[in-house]
Amino acid sequence: MRTLFVGDLHLSADRPDITQAFLTFLDTQLADTEALYILGDLFEVWVGDDIAEPFANQLADAIKLAAQKMPVYFIHGNRDFLIGGTFAKRSGMTLLPEVVVLNLYGIDSVILHGDSLCTLDKPYQRFRKFRNMAWTKWLYAHLPKSKRLGIAAKIRSRSQSSNQQKSYSIMDVEPDAVLELLDSTQTQQMIHGHTHRPAIHSLTNGKRRIVVGDWYEQGSMLCVSQDNIELIELPFGK
Ligand code: MN
Repeated sequence: MRTLFVGDLHLSADRPDITQAFLTFLDTQLADTEALYILGDLFEVWVGDDIAEPFANQLADAIKLAAQKMPVYFIHGNRDFLIGGTFAKRSGMTLLPEVVVLNLYGIDSVILHGDSLCTLDKPYQRFRKFRNMAWTKWLYAHLPKSKRLGIAAKIRSRSQSSNQQKSYSIMDVEPDAVLELLDSTQTQQMIHGHTHRPAIHSLTNGKRRIVVGDWYEQGSMLCVSQDNIELIELPFGK
């Protein structure tokens, strides 16, 4: 048996090729799989369960089929942090907290989206703090739909233009933040996404940090079993 991790699919109506690749993944890769973890940024942007786009509802149906065979867990990303109970229920996903500790085939592991580890990006961390306040979420949820759609479009374009200006190192995780989290959760291994830099990093003391890949030009999954851990590329259109 194996456990699969994916993240940073950034699904949107503009990219039917990615949606199709994910549907194919659900269809063909879940044999012998005991759990599927989606580590955030499943969607490029999410403005509320009540205004989910048709393609997203189709995906929900496909995820639900998978969820009938194994648990499908979801950790919010910075793009889809507003996915709520309604969409989770519709897609059969179990919503997990931001940081989760689990025993993965005998190895204590911590899993998260990863944006909280990019501590050098001060403006983003300030925004993140603001965004996570309960009243911000409440206020946002009570805005008219047209307003929320407008805000989402603005967030998306602003994040695209500002990311181009940020230096390479600022956009990656901070090594200190990684070690601190491994320490505070008393875990040996960390699995996250967000940086779009798939890799299996060996750290000191036999610890490791594994980064799942994004789905921009190909699909990507992390496959963990009792005696193997592997990042696998899934070419589009196959
Ligand atoms: Mn992200």
